[in-house]
Amino acid sequence: MTATTPQFVSPSPAQQIQPELTGSELAVDVAIVGGGIVGLTLAAALAPSGMAVAVIEAQTAAGAAARQRAYAFSLTSADIFKGLGLWPKVGPQICHFDKVQLSDGDYGQVVRFLPEDLGTEAVYYGAEHGVLMAALQGAIAAAANVYYLCSATLEEMHDQDDSVIAEVSTPTGRFRVRSPLVVAADGKGSPLRQRAGIGSVGWRYRQSCVTTVLEPEHSHQNTAYERFWPSGPFAILPLADGRCQVVWTAPHAEAQAILDLPEAEFMAELEQRYGTQMGQLKRLTAPAMFPVQLMQCDRYVQPRLALVGDAAHSCHPVGGQGLNMGIRDAAALAEVLTDAYQRGQDLGDVAVLRPYERWRRLENWVILSFTDVLTRTFSNQILPVVVVRRAGLWVLSSVPLLKRLALRLMTGRLGRLPRLARLGQLK
Ligand SMILES: Cc1cc2nc3c(=O)[nH]c(=O)nc-3n(C[C@H](O)[C@H](O)[C@H](O)COP(=O)(O)OP(=O)(O)OC[C@H]3O[C@@H](n4cnc5c(N)ncnc54)[C@H](O)[C@@H]3O)c2cc1C
Repeated sequence: MTATTPQFVSPSPAQQIQPELTGSELAVDVAIVGGGIVGLTLAAALAPSGMAVAVIEAQTAAGAAARQRAYAFSLTSADIFKGLGLWPKVGPQICHFDKVQLSDGDYGQVVRFLPEDLGTEAVYYGAEHGVLMAALQGAIAAAANVYYLCSATLEEMHDQDDSVIAEVSTPTGRFRVRSPLVVAADGKGSPLRQRAGIGSVGWRYRQSCVTTVLEPEHSHQNTAYERFWPSGPFAILPLADGRCQVVWTAPHAEAQAILDLPEAEFMAELEQRYGTQMGQLKRLTAPAMFPVQLMQCDRYVQPRLALVGDAAHSCHPVGGQGLNMGIRDAAALAEVLTDAYQRGQDLGDVAVLRPYERWRRLENWVILSFTDVLTRTFSNQILPVVVVRRAGLWVLSSVPLLKRLALRLMTGRLGRLPRLARLGQLK
């Protein structure tokens, strides 16, 4: 399949294409709706295949990169970024977790995960949204076959012959993107998933999470803490430049009350949950609150449509898994599509897409279940459950094989690795 290149699109150094004409059409091999980290990872992973790819993003390029969030970034996500050749840009700007420490409220038994448990350079990484987005935007700006359409919102879609026509609106008018396959990378509320009528299973937790960024008095020593309180898990993740990201989960009303506290009282509450090991803590960003839910779509593919990232699933932030699952979806889908493209197959054919669904939906179930069991077990104060989970912590810290298995699950080192991740491991 070939791409026609209407006059309004050409990759620009500003990394942002503003179509100026209406009534024109761009024909591509894959149209990705949503240019967050997952959508851009997919575009960057497809670029070497030579396929023509359009990314349709509702925000400006700067707006999409501006989200104030830091992620616990797994070893496998790092391998995928290495496989994409992005590590020289990302590596120096992220923080290595040299230790991850899990504990159960005030209970003394602590489980410590160290890089030597897996023989890796870090247990996990702390990566900021803007750093990951800048690297991905740079990669797709350098790829002449990727069209990055910003301030462009998908309005309607319809089938025509062997293609889908996406009607896209921009501040200067409407245009069409024609493609045999549309990928929904449009996030949790995914308008595309809803339009396709794809159902899901899941539930909202009776918890919300509050986030903020801190500057501690003493070094964070590259240590991440996750402490499970009956009200919900409380995590402090080390970031570059000595800062830390707090992810503080509590029942909705309590989370709202925490959010509304004056700064001094907020910091006092935070110290209660965390302690004083890093000395005086200074708050750098206003706290924000997010509802927490588990969601898994009934299917990830249907004719001419595939779902990736939060459009397909969403999980409790405990263990920092959501984005990592999405990056892995993107690498897996890119692999399946690249192979099909080389064989000259129709990329929108559900028989081509099904292996991606079988691969990723099952693996994502494992992670969703793991985060669910973790949060339910640790938010529970029924005595037998408390006894069992504390015994579990002891077993985890005392049996190296079990510890290694848990770490491999949390860092994405279990399951089928995408080719890009295996390539990254060699770099
Ligand atoms: C508090 C909190 C902490 C978290 N911490 C972690 C962590 O430590 N580790 C981790 O792995 N995950 C974490 N997550 C989960 C992570 O944030 C998400 O899984 C991830 O951001 C999903 O990325 P995405 O690209 O799929 O979706 P999004 O980031 O939501 O991107 C979707 C994109 O689609 C665009 N879009 C939407 N609709 C349209 C449309 N109609 N047309 C065009 N464009 C459209 C949007 O503008 C956006 O840019 C956390 C989540 C929360 C809430």
